[in-house]
Amino acid sequence: MAEEYRVGIVCTDKGQHPRVRLTMARREPDGSHGMTYAFRNFAPPMSDAEPQTAVGRNSYVFRCPSCPRMPQVEATRWWEIIDRLAAAGLKELDISLLP
Ligand SMILES: [Zn+2]
Repeated sequence: MAEEYRVGIVCTDKGQHPRVRLTMARREPDGSHGMTYAFRNFAPPMSDAEPQTAVGRNSYVFRCPSCPRMPQVEATRWWEIIDRLAAAGLKELDISLLP
């Protein structure tokens, strides 16, 4: 990947509500990555997270303000998904459509 890549992360609850932007995932050419709006609409993995909280030890936890959806995606898998989107040139990911 030669350029920085950004993809908007949205939720539509599979088309049930208007698209809500949760965050923006960013992948840099040097392999580093990040996301915007931490803790508003998602929580990054935290190794000292308490069990039973809405924060994952190894997972990103997304929270949609428009529906009860709270998808969790394991961090390694998350960035694999982002890399696949980047390779496909996609600019948006509807998280409610993730398997
Ligand atoms: Zn939603």
